[in-house]
Amino acid sequence: MSRLSVDVRRCVAEMAEYAGPEDAEQLAKRLGVPASSIVKLDANENPYGPSPRVAEALARFDAYHIYPDMEQRELRRWIGEYVGLDPAHVLAGNGSDELIDLLMKAYLDPGDEVMDFPPSFGMYSFNAQHYAARVIEVQRDERFEIDPEEALAALTPRTKLIILTSPNNPTGNRVPPETIARLLESGRLVIVDEAYAEFASGSVVSWVPRYPNLVVLRTFSKWAGLAGLRIGYGLLPLEVARHLWKLKPPFNVNQAAVVAVRASLDDRAWLLENCRKIVAERERLRAALASIEGLRPYPSEANFILCDVEGRDAEALRRGLRERGILVRYYRTPRLRNCIRVSVGTPEQDDRLLAALREV
Ligand SMILES: *Cc1c(COP(=O)(O)O)cnc(C)c1O
Repeated sequence: MSRLSVDVRRCVAEMAEYAGPEDAEQLAKRLGVPASSIVKLDANENPYGPSPRVAEALARFDAYHIYPDMEQRELRRWIGEYVGLDPAHVLAGNGSDELIDLLMKAYLDPGDEVMDFPPSFGMYSFNAQHYAARVIEVQRDERFEIDPEEALAALTPRTKLIILTSPNNPTGNRVPPETIARLLESGRLVIVDEAYAEFASGSVVSWVPRYPNLVVLRTFSKWAGLAGLRIGYGLLPLEVARHLWKLKPPFNVNQAAVVAVRASLDDRAWLLENCRKIVAERERLRAALASIEGLRPYPSEANFILCDVEGRDAEALRRGLRERGILVRYYRTPRLRNCIRVSVGTPEQDDRLLAALREV
């Protein structure tokens, strides 16, 4: 018999486990329905899926036995062309989640601080734990806006990263460019996560070459429907990029993802047309939600809508929807005490959601 006589790092022992969305397949099995009938509106995935050219290109590709290009040369050129920046600013990752992790790995010593603006994306505080970093929370106001002066006043000498999500997940609003500009004056590394930029009315991506402390994160998961292939990217100041390259796992982006990006960018007109459909459907869905008693949807510039639930229990509502094969996110944090977040689906999926909401 042997035994494990070493302890895990303390910050790992103390970590909470990440609670992700529920598995649609398990739900289908439990309800005894086909998996395809589940209406999955809990993870902001693209209801139209990837470009049909992705499956064709993946089937045709003949070099899966070859490691991908460590330097991501072609990939960075295509992405650079798409966002209008020199490829030297581009670093691709296994989802933009990996970029968040690499940035923290590069900048956070134990006890350093990350500034977060809850309610926001859970991955930031989750990842910060890996580095025994502290999360400074600056609360958003009742309209989920950020007060940049309050944020600047809360900085300490150990605050290294300021992380903004624009449009914000789960609230759906953008951070005004003036707020970002003001926070950049702090000299801290300001990370703007633009995972939903293709559904929004603006972006600060063009600012990247002008600021030595601005990072913009983007992903193919939402607008291009490639969440399952794990491909995101950072747009980085050259000095930041130089350090991240040292930390990047050599083959972090797989060949299938590279092939899929090429096919997606070649078919961007089709994909962006779907984004326009989703934006139009978002506005229809929001009006319909607002017409249901006890629901108060917030405006959104992303592919999801946050909704206050009034006069009934949001968790019970979520359970009722789940029994009808519809998955949504719900929140129980103090600021989002009784809220659900629904991703914008196809009109048919959303009609099922609306019917179920009226019924539960
Ligand atoms: C979905 C999401 C991401 C995830 O991106 P991946 O590229 O799939 O890792 C990043 N940031 C926010 C705010 C998101 O909602």
